Amino acid sequence: MTSTAFIGLGNMGAGMAANLAKAGQTVWAFDLSATALDRAVAAGCQRAASTAQALTDADTVITMLPAGAAVRAVWGSEILPHAKPGALIIDCSTIDVESARLVAVEASKKGLRPADAPVSGGIMAADAGTLAFMVGCADADYPAVEAALAPMARVTIHAGQSGAGQAAKICNNMLLGISMIGVCEAFALAEKLDLDPMRFFDIASKSSGQCWSLNTYCPWPGGVESAPSNRNYEGGFLTALMSKDLKLAQEAAAKSGAATPLGAQAQALYALFEAQGYGQKDFSAILQLMRGRLVDL
Ligand code: NAD
Repeated sequence: MTSTAFIGLGNMGAGMAANLAKAGQTVWAFDLSATALDRAVAAGCQRAASTAQALTDADTVITMLPAGAAVRAVWGSEILPHAKPGALIIDCSTIDVESARLVAVEASKKGLRPADAPVSGGIMAADAGTLAFMVGCADADYPAVEAALAPMARVTIHAGQSGAGQAAKICNNMLLGISMIGVCEAFALAEKLDLDPMRFFDIASKSSGQCWSLNTYCPWPGGVESAPSNRNYEGGFLTALMSKDLKLAQEAAAKSGAATPLGAQAQALYALFEAQGYGQKDFSAILQLMRGRLVDL
């Protein structure tokens, strides 16, 4: 039976590890939080006392951690010294490209097979096993990585070599943040011009202004039934996470010399919105900042 070690059983990791266990794998789970570990055990995982213990027989190791510093620490001091030779080591966290490349180089030197595989889709997709994975890894390792991720995935795409998964994730989310702000500004202007917002939605969603942020995830309540705007912006993709991803994109832009002025503006606006206390609202709630109607949230 396939044995997998899963490190980091928070909001996302809990559902992901549970789906691996449901698929019949032996999943050795570890998290610094006892509550998170208890929940994973209740969902069918085996309790490990440490990351090193979780790795003992694992052919595949998956990490789902908060940020680059945690990934560098866990991979550097626990996974690389203790993983089985030849094991696949897959990081699904969203982290900076530089850290992803750094840990991959160190893992390869130890004879391990590293991959970065950040996800698109939130907690509901993690629970349902319908995440989209963007993978950076050696060509030869991709089929094994795809198979390892399958019980958690709706789709898996090979973005390129190590770090390419993280690069794809932050470029996509920078585009998403910018497009959502554009849609919100257009709604705010339409309102000031006494144009009915739903009339505007009907027209723009069939015209050249159409995009995912408008057509599928409309920030104005009433446009798209399934959008978080119809549930007072609860659930969905949290402003705090959009803010984190835009910050990663700006750090990558500064290091690589890419000019991303709209990405910088989007990062500043989402940082402001988060600082005002709306980090736990869906990112489309930034509409209310543009309208000067934060009081409605
Ligand atoms: P979370 O904070 O809920 O979970 C992280 C878990 O890692 C926690 O349970 C924490 O105790 C554990 N952890 C931290 N350091 C550890 C260590 N040294 N050893 C073992 N466990 C450790 O975060 P989350 O919402 O599950 O997100 C995880 C990652 O997925 C992040 O990088 C995030 O950006 C990304 N992501 C999240 C979402 C989302 O909707 N929540 C969506 C897409 C991507």
